[in-house]
Amino acid sequence: MYEFPIQRAAQLKEKPDPKTLIFGRTFTDHMFLMNYDAGRGWHDGRIVPYAPLELAPSAMVFHYAQEVFEGLKAYRAPDGGVQLFRPADNGQRLADSCERLCIPPVPVDEFVAAVEALVRVEADWVPSEPGTSLYIRPFIIATDPSLGVHASHSYLFCIICCPVGAYYAEGINPVRIYVENEDVRAVRGGTGYTKCGGNYAASIRAGERAEAQGYAQVLWLDGVERKYIEEVGSMNVMFKVDGKIITPKLTGSVLPGITRRSCIQLIRDWGLEVEERLITAQELFDAAKSGKLEEAWGTGTAAVVSPVGEMTWNDQSVVINGGRIGPVTQKLYDTLTGIQWGTHSDPHGWVVRL
Ligand SMILES: *Cc1c(COP(=O)(O)O)cnc(C)c1O
Repeated sequence: MYEFPIQRAAQLKEKPDPKTLIFGRTFTDHMFLMNYDAGRGWHDGRIVPYAPLELAPSAMVFHYAQEVFEGLKAYRAPDGGVQLFRPADNGQRLADSCERLCIPPVPVDEFVAAVEALVRVEADWVPSEPGTSLYIRPFIIATDPSLGVHASHSYLFCIICCPVGAYYAEGINPVRIYVENEDVRAVRGGTGYTKCGGNYAASIRAGERAEAQGYAQVLWLDGVERKYIEEVGSMNVMFKVDGKIITPKLTGSVLPGITRRSCIQLIRDWGLEVEERLITAQELFDAAKSGKLEEAWGTGTAAVVSPVGEMTWNDQSVVINGGRIGPVTQKLYDTLTGIQWGTHSDPHGWVVRL
């Protein structure tokens, strides 16, 4: 068992109106901190008032981006209890990201204990309106005050939380996306399978360009052949083609999403086939033109599932399912959100009650 000392904030903030929340702007009263120093390992896990961090301008994270993060949510169940969704999977993925970035991993059970301890302290911040939740952002940064390019000897693990409004406050509207031919998000051998800030820095330009042209997201191609579909924005992507569900396989440049993994399990539970394999953009557009591309959707913690209504690649545009959410997409959304908010049974034991 891990025990973390709690230093309570002298004054608690006023809780915001969950109807007007903007994602990632409002933070709770406390945060979790833990330090790592070479020779001592991870030490001094603690909960303290939410406040700015003090770091040397030479801190390695600012220069060489030695940083990893996670994203998960706490949900308010109908009986008033608070629950997490597969938090150990986030802990394991953080450890996998750490390994790639040469950061000493936080033990998975200590990660889960830290998240649980912080959410217990902030339980009043978990909103109860439909579709709302408390978003949890754990991250680790390299803190050595040194410009030498090597692995840092000291790190800070921090967890912050923010209440988030319903993602689909106005109902689920399928989005328009376009295939990005120029920029790539990640390459095999790089850091694509990790959640590190650098991947996001590299993806911002394409995202901005997409937005400027009226698209919600970018459909990423692989970095080597620019042929295979990888992800949509910062979500994994799935397609229903001719009755079968297909999703890009985890080649090293695709992020192993926990929502992706959960969707694959549910689809198999329903007796449908899921193939994890390489998928070319050409194959998808051919399928769309012959009427066989039945559904497309992104998966991720923020939106759970996000239906795609229209796809553009160079000068070709295809509309999917008449621009409406498809039945498998809808069923995945209903089932997963039901499990997460505790209104649906949880046959795989994914939910952790606090
Ligand atoms: C976080 C993330 C996802 C989704 O992962 P979940 O565990 O389902 O939230 C997908 N792609 C990228 C690039 C991500 O960073």
